[in-house]
Amino acid sequence: MLQYGWRMLSSRPSLWVLALGCALLAALPGALAGTILATPIVAFLVTGNPLLAVGLLPEELTGSPGSAALLWGLVALSLLGALCVRSRLYAAAVWSSDGSNEPGVSSALRGSRARWPAVVRIYVESGLLLLCVLLPIASLAFAAGGGAAGGTSVLVLVAALGARSLIRVTTTLAIRATVLDSVGGRLAWKSAINVLKQRRADAAAVWIALVAIGAALWMGGRIISPVLQDTAFDYPPVSAYAFLREVAQITMAVPLEAFLLVFSFGAWTAVYRDIQARPPGGSQRRQTNPAGARAAAFLLVVTIVSNGIPTVIDSRYTDEQSAETSAIERSEIEPEETLRAAPTIRPSPTSYDVTARLEDEHLTWTTRVAYRNVTGQVLKNLVFHLYPAAYARPLADIPLAGDLLAGDLSGSFRSRARPGTFTIKRVMVDGKNARREANGTSLVVSLPRPLKQGAATNVTIALDAELPVFPERYGVWGEMTLLGNWVPVVAVRDEEGWVLHEFGTVGDPFFSEVADYRVLIEADDRQNITGTGSLTRIQQSSDDTRTWTFDAPGVRDVAFAASVTMRALERTTAGVVVRSWYPAEARALGAANLDTAVAAVGDYSERFGPLPFDEVEVVATSGLLGGMEYPGVVFVGQGNKSLEGVPVLPELLEFAGFADAQRRYVLGHELAHQWWYASVGNDQASEPWLDEALAEASTITWLRRVENGDRTWKMTNLLSEPPDNDGHLYAGVDEFSSNQEYIDSIYRSGAGTVLDLRTRVGGDTFDAILRSYHETNRLEIATAGDFFEAIQKVAGSDVAESFAR
Ligand SMILES: [Zn+2]
Repeated sequence: MLQYGWRMLSSRPSLWVLALGCALLAALPGALAGTILATPIVAFLVTGNPLLAVGLLPEELTGSPGSAALLWGLVALSLLGALCVRSRLYAAAVWSSDGSNEPGVSSALRGSRARWPAVVRIYVESGLLLLCVLLPIASLAFAAGGGAAGGTSVLVLVAALGARSLIRVTTTLAIRATVLDSVGGRLAWKSAINVLKQRRADAAAVWIALVAIGAALWMGGRIISPVLQDTAFDYPPVSAYAFLREVAQITMAVPLEAFLLVFSFGAWTAVYRDIQARPPGGSQRRQTNPAGARAAAFLLVVTIVSNGIPTVIDSRYTDEQSAETSAIERSEIEPEETLRAAPTIRPSPTSYDVTARLEDEHLTWTTRVAYRNVTGQVLKNLVFHLYPAAYARPLADIPLAGDLLAGDLSGSFRSRARPGTFTIKRVMVDGKNARREANGTSLVVSLPRPLKQGAATNVTIALDAELPVFPERYGVWGEMTLLGNWVPVVAVRDEEGWVLHEFGTVGDPFFSEVADYRVLIEADDRQNITGTGSLTRIQQSSDDTRTWTFDAPGVRDVAFAASVTMRALERTTAGVVVRSWYPAEARALGAANLDTAVAAVGDYSERFGPLPFDEVEVVATSGLLGGMEYPGVVFVGQGNKSLEGVPVLPELLEFAGFADAQRRYVLGHELAHQWWYASVGNDQASEPWLDEALAEASTITWLRRVENGDRTWKMTNLLSEPPDNDGHLYAGVDEFSSNQEYIDSIYRSGAGTVLDLRTRVGGDTFDAILRSYHETNRLEIATAGDFFEAIQKVAGSDVAESFAR
């Protein structure tokens, strides 16, 4: 049987033509799927959610009803056409694989024509049978649950593969009964089953040989086309590059598949006909047969093409990218070019003077706070937030570490991260050592005499820390040092006393009044530093250190990022200088961040009114969990590095556009916080929806304006629809046990509630409400009541009351 199959390879050229046709028709849908349908397919693979996959089909397939119907019609027609043509070619090939039939493509097509409807019928029946067998197996596996033991899932997989092979072998024999002996309907299946029963051993031998040859071809293909394997996810899926690469892929795969097909046509026909004889002449004939030489020559051509085309397009793509990168490099600015005069605005009651020294991972800093009591109460003490104290906890207890550890599929976070240290060196009030009590992340400083309304006092706090090796908010990770929530800030005081929240694992508890900051940071002179406020001076402070001075009047907090490889681009929009900071090796990312940030800041400025500051810095950090907002600066992580080391998945997600969607979405969200947190403050711990749901709603409406749909939202949240309001909108951060729960309720369903308001009042009125809310509460602290007031002012009390409900 196997010999018969081998003989077919060299003795029947017509079989090759038919097999090539079959292989090409089988390869095309895959190529289409790999390019145009990459995003929905990856979405389905990652989430198993068919609705999400449909929602991410290319716009042309879902856009206007007319064009969608036309395109879907075309897709369906071509699939049907491919099926019909392929089953005809297949029938002709089976006809031709019988040595007693005339050779030649046209005679095969003529000879098998009368049997085509019967072959299509067998295909359809076989497909249905496959569904009937595989669905129960799949649902069984599903019922066993995702947590099924490894052994169970292997068993299920083996059962499914076995059933599939058996059905395919029977189908192949039934088609022979139909084409070669004109047996139709159920008789064809019966005859196939009879053959299988009688020649079990032969069928098994052929099946094993085919699996072995298939595996050899697959591995051989990988060996002869290393370039094709290397460049699999290198180009954007919908591009001329990806198209050409698919052409190279098909050029290689189709002949190899055809080879397998021709062999299998012969071998299965031999099983069906019970042809046991060796070919006449045997090995002697093989020596004189030029097929071997021809095959070798052919293999050489295939190898050259399948490596040559990708090599050429790859080098052209690389050239284009490096030209783009050098264009970006030419427009980069030096930190000195961002120097400005200190901004002048109405002074705040409180000011902070920070002098810091950063030496590798060691940070020492002294904060002098000039505090004026405007609380209307007599104060016996002042309470400060000391958030860096949380980073001296054991690693698992550091804020966000739980999420990082849970998502650390590759173990790269666990192996690198470590806690820092934190020491309070000195606390003085008006120049004298003061009594103090540190408790978690708060510090109570006793005042020597009660501070009356309107009176002022000076508090000096000297701190020392070994920074944690940590990628979010505060710490060193790779080249990047992040200083977020690092300056001791006075807590907010209300009628009931100091407002303190635990710095735990869920949400951002940061809550403070606007004050005037001046920050001096001395660091290694190779470091570039950016952050809140205006850079007003860079001074060489010793042989190898420089001191950077930032003036930031009227901000709630200050944050900075330092790195020796950091570069910058800037552009102005709506009176705001937007800067993108990024590692030198990520220039394309830096340029993309600038474009996204300029678009978002422009949109928000137009809709919500101007910011109280005119510089916004976007820093591409090595963060793993999205981004973090601070006044005048946002930290944005570069994709999901926790997948580093996980095979294929990160590349696949980037190829299909998920990484870029995530980048745009996170950037839009963090920048919206410049309005809802930095400009209009709120108690982020007890009313988190007020900044988070508004930031989400702002992002969603901006993206809808740009992209005419929720594509980026769907890709980032991996959901097909925003979830309904779950009734937790007014919950505080301490009511959630995980960030996932918190995000579902406050971000997603919170944004849904805010967007319901937009649906009710219309886009323009909605923007007017937000503009009024921003204008009234700029640089103040707002509550839900202030938001309802803005709704009432713009849209009337009915709307405000129904929203409040
Ligand atoms: Zn947020």
